[in-house]
Amino acid sequence: MKFREKLNIPKIPERELVKEVYKLSKINWGVDDGFYPLGSCTMKYNPRINERIASFPEFCWGHPLLADLYEGSLAIIYELEQLLCKITGMDAFSLHPSAGAHGELLALMIAKKYFIEKKEYQRKYVLVPDSAHGTNPASAAMCRFEVKEVKSDERGNIDIKDLASKIGKESAVFMLTYPNTLGLADERIKDIVKICKDNGTLLYLDGANFNAIAGIVRPGDIGFDFVHLNLHKTFSTPHGGGGPAAGPLGVKENLKKYLPYPRVNLKQTNKEVKEGEPGGKEIEKEIFYLDYSNSESSVGKIESFFGNFPILVRAWVYIKMLGEEGIKKNSQTAVLNANYLQKKLTEKYHLPYNRICKHEFVLSEKGLGVKVEDLAKALQDEGFHPPTIYFPLIVKGAIMIEPTETETKDTLDKFAQAMLKLFDLSITNPDYFRDSPKKQAVKRVDIVKANRDIIPTDKERNNEKSNNSK
Ligand SMILES: *Cc1c(COP(=O)(O)O)cnc(C)c1O
Repeated sequence: MKFREKLNIPKIPERELVKEVYKLSKINWGVDDGFYPLGSCTMKYNPRINERIASFPEFCWGHPLLADLYEGSLAIIYELEQLLCKITGMDAFSLHPSAGAHGELLALMIAKKYFIEKKEYQRKYVLVPDSAHGTNPASAAMCRFEVKEVKSDERGNIDIKDLASKIGKESAVFMLTYPNTLGLADERIKDIVKICKDNGTLLYLDGANFNAIAGIVRPGDIGFDFVHLNLHKTFSTPHGGGGPAAGPLGVKENLKKYLPYPRVNLKQTNKEVKEGEPGGKEIEKEIFYLDYSNSESSVGKIESFFGNFPILVRAWVYIKMLGEEGIKKNSQTAVLNANYLQKKLTEKYHLPYNRICKHEFVLSEKGLGVKVEDLAKALQDEGFHPPTIYFPLIVKGAIMIEPTETETKDTLDKFAQAMLKLFDLSITNPDYFRDSPKKQAVKRVDIVKANRDIIPTDKERNNEKSNNSK
């Protein structure tokens, strides 16, 4: 190889490149542009101080292979683990998983090993509610479990009879989202815990909706065996389009030995005599170190080094800044905001599960004069990012709204006004929606054409060629 390969870089002046990138950034929509009520995703304001601290050179430039030298970074990992344990009532956390789905996968790997060690080889099923996020069955399948779907009842709770008929000595894990993706807390959670315990089935909390209950409910106290949190949702990190993310997994004591290694641990605080001080005043020194002691019992490594470190720093700053009271108030405000909007919108929109909600709620298309996707497109022209639509699947034409705690009443009122206006318009003038959005950089995408005239990638095209030539 030549030392200096001539690279084929297009000759564009830097000035032109900057202009182009800046233009693209302006036609994008982010959480700092305005209201982003994407249900299930918890798109909240990310305080700037998180960014400031996460970009300290000491955090950015530390090489993970020299982790021993970065005691401050290790201290943050250790302390964040402790904080998450305290918030959730769990006994240990692994900060390694790099997404919610990754935390689910780790949990199921742990369950697999746990039951193999107990010689309960017959436990091949993972139970998943019909309202669950798609990652739940996907994670179960990746771990070679078979998925059994559990029905929801007419109030949006787990159908206890259905659960009882499907759970048994062959069920390894029940994955429950609490509050669920309808934004509702299961009213019979205690019965669910008991049914799982009676059957020896591990109870897993998909904690992606933790924004509703942080500081109020501790899953460890209710009886959950493990839980993943989405730091990029509940504990504020800019995310979207698939990342960046962190989905730490918390476990109870009996599952702790299976967590990935190394774990950051704290050595017995050594008393150190400060040199040169008369009388030798003793100071305490904390020594953090990488603990490999569970490498035999662990399920192994699931991520290089220590997980998505900058996101861990952001979450740590966020929790330290808010404190216990602040976290509780956040959840209360998130729930209040959701109920306020729910109340306003149900003036016209249909609410299939008519209950006080937690941090989000799900409306349906019933009564709307156009398709839900038309409404979503038109909302963009009103200056709002559309809510999550067509999920969860158990609501036909779902419109899933999560305002979070970081929006003002004024913003919520304006959004409600736009939603109600579009509802009326969908009945009086449905044609208005046909070419929505009208004011955006990217206009209406032709979905029918996109489905019919698929443009394959080079790879697929090449595969097709070689198949045809056989
Ligand atoms: C976001 C979410 C997940 C998955 O988290 P990712 O970080 O996107 O992998 C799982 N369950 C629920 C309920 C979620 O909202």
